[in-house]
Amino acid sequence: QCTLVCPTGALSEKDETDRVLNMIDDPETVTIFQLAPAVRVTLGEEFGMTPGENVEPLIVYALKHIGVDYVMDTNFAADVTIMEEGTELLERLKARKEDHEVALPMFTSCCPGWVNYVEKHAPMVMEYLSTTRSPQAIFGALAKALLPQKLNVSRDKLRVISVMPCTAKKGEALRPTLAREAGPDVDAVLTVRELAKLLRRCGMHLKNCKPMARDEHLFTDYTGAGAIFGTTGGVMEAAVRTAYALTHDGQSMKPMVFEPTRGLEGVKEATVDLGELGEIRVAVVHGLARTQALLDKMSRGEVIYDFVEVMACPGGCISGGGTPRKKNNYQPFSRVRQEAIYKIDEECAIRESHKNPEVTALYAETLGAPGSHLAHDLLHCEYRSKKAQKEPSDIRKLWQVLSAR
Ligand code: SF4
Repeated sequence: QCTLVCPTGALSEKDETDRVLNMIDDPETVTIFQLAPAVRVTLGEEFGMTPGENVEPLIVYALKHIGVDYVMDTNFAADVTIMEEGTELLERLKARKEDHEVALPMFTSCCPGWVNYVEKHAPMVMEYLSTTRSPQAIFGALAKALLPQKLNVSRDKLRVISVMPCTAKKGEALRPTLAREAGPDVDAVLTVRELAKLLRRCGMHLKNCKPMARDEHLFTDYTGAGAIFGTTGGVMEAAVRTAYALTHDGQSMKPMVFEPTRGLEGVKEATVDLGELGEIRVAVVHGLARTQALLDKMSRGEVIYDFVEVMACPGGCISGGGTPRKKNNYQPFSRVRQEAIYKIDEECAIRESHKNPEVTALYAETLGAPGSHLAHDLLHCEYRSKKAQKEPSDIRKLWQVLSAR
């Protein structure tokens, strides 16, 4: 069995191609694939296609033709992530306004490379992480909780298989805090390169596949906001679109594209007007060395933010350790892949997570409101320090004082 190595340097994981093939071949199980945002703009390169080409409809065809029962979408879960994370941010900001002690700045937590880093090397950040699960984990939780009834199949027969640009997502799927008594929410994680290998082993070449539309309303509907999670700055932009609308009587941000957090610059900063909650300061950083440097600056009080997006891989998931890779130069490939992600957003008729009809139906019919008891149970989690925090950090006090300014 071969091993894939993560560019963040800390992670190496086993190839799961054989296990997943066995799941697909097992007539007793129902297999559900979820595709992460970056998968559709990176897999084509494995088959000699133009870098950045959106091959989503070809992947749907290929997977259905090798016997996968359902091809669903992590982009849908990314929209749910924004509902929860955006609400969480607004709640923390409201609490601060009312002079309650609150964990600000809030840091995103959907990148397991970053969460692993916090646990091992920056435990003082732990309490500032958003408790909202990543889109992969949200998809898994919703799938195992709701699909048995929807598809009329028992939970123990369902197999949720993620295709991710990321080796760290394999570890995330195994986190004890994300498992339930009835078993894991996500049963296996394939990287983009492993998916290519699996398709080749089944005799499928992407160039010979016909475009096939994804199913509708089956954890498949997504907005442009969900799609841009695949690149650095995307989570922030998606969150800003929804937070803006929620604090402006539902009005959309204009323009919809939030330029300050776009592109591949190492650290991006901006301010966002959130109506009665005032103007907030946001930052986007990618790559762990740069993130540590930013944390150091924050700790010295040199920069002040309310909300920070961190992605461990330079460029974000489009350049993840599980994507097709070129040696030592991520920039040109990240750029075309990033442009492809932006194009998907542009082409989506709906570009704000809170307007995704499948997501609004999910809340109306099942979850209640974002942040509800059930939503918390299914869609949030806790993180644990692997390195005991010796004392309540001075950073806590410093950030509290600074963020209240
Ligand atoms: Fe995984 Fe890298 Fe994306 Fe983080 S940025 S989720 S480590 S691919």
